[in-house]
Amino acid sequence: MTDQSFVTLSTNDSYARGALVLGSSLKQHRTTKRLTVLITPQVSESMRKVLEKIFDEVILVDILDSRDSAHLTLMKRPELGVTLTKLHCWSLIQYSKCVFMDADTLVLTNIDELFEREELSAAPDPGWPDCFNSGVFVYRPSIETYNQLLHMASEQGSFDGGDQGLLNMFFSSWATTDIKKHLPFIYNLSSISIYSYLPAFKAFGANAKVVHFLGRIKPWNYTYDPKTKSVRSDSHDPTVIDPQFLTMWWDIFTTNILPLLQHFGVVKDTFTALHALSGLAYTLAFSCGFCRKAEVTDAMLHMSIGDLSPPPQPFVSSEERKERWEQGQADYMGADSFDNIKRKLDTYLQ
Ligand code: UDP
Ligand code: MN
Repeated sequence: MTDQSFVTLSTNDSYARGALVLGSSLKQHRTTKRLTVLITPQVSESMRKVLEKIFDEVILVDILDSRDSAHLTLMKRPELGVTLTKLHCWSLIQYSKCVFMDADTLVLTNIDELFEREELSAAPDPGWPDCFNSGVFVYRPSIETYNQLLHMASEQGSFDGGDQGLLNMFFSSWATTDIKKHLPFIYNLSSISIYSYLPAFKAFGANAKVVHFLGRIKPWNYTYDPKTKSVRSDSHDPTVIDPQFLTMWWDIFTTNILPLLQHFGVVKDTFTALHALSGLAYTLAFSCGFCRKAEVTDAMLHMSIGDLSPPPQPFVSSEERKERWEQGQADYMGADSFDNIKRKLDTYLQ
């Protein structure tokens, strides 16, 4: 099927790693659909080459291009940067139907049957089930819809500041009109639900078709030990991802993606790759509890493979500090005080 495609998005090299694992998982389960990734100029040249190995189409979109109608919207609503980039998926009119998937999703089985659904089909959001979650949705590319979405973005903004709010405002009858547009939750199982409704996860989790690593901490932010094939995790954190799915993600990453990243020079050695986010960033990740759109996200995600400079020397070794965090012994008044964390964040942001 050349007029139907899975579509994802990555605006930087960190999310690109997620996109690569997603693309690889779709191929592993023998999709017959095309694979398309939208990227922005921030994605490095070498990463683009790797994306081209997994995706049929790597499409560069630049919302700052003044010929683009999104440009004007962005001028008015600068907070909607990534959201507007995601809307570009409606401009892929070479396809008659698409399934958009966030770069932080992972496919566990063939899901080509989703293309039998109509626009806009999506699964309920675990936080507010009368809204759909915009991590997985079936849609029909159309310039008209694209322009209407941009118009709504510029006139009304988004109630949550992101794409999910805007899309729920636009497709506002989703909750009440057509049950066929409600995808079963197993097409977008968010890791958060495992903890918020454990008995349901135990009863139905085995049927999961797509896992969504929704939230601030993404699989690529964890540290993976290839020897034991396990991921370090912290049971104190409510956003922590189920280790089973996390290990699946890392298995695909180390087996199928890492060799490509090494071949194209995105990462120099395995050690750097697997310890990309140790130390300070890990501490930051666990320092501010559960918040979906936390400000630290950008700072954390810019510490991608290959471009991570060594963190400033903390008062105790970062390993030791991490251990203490995991045991619930954060030094709130000293090294881990808000002011210290903010100062370090500022250093990264400069
Ligand atoms: N995204 C991106 N760069 C960013 C943030 C988001 O490319 O800096 C894309 C990516 O495809 C991501 C999607 O937008 O999966 C939605 O963001 P995210 O998954 O972080 O939101 P969540 O699902 O955690 O609410
Ligand atoms: Mn997501």
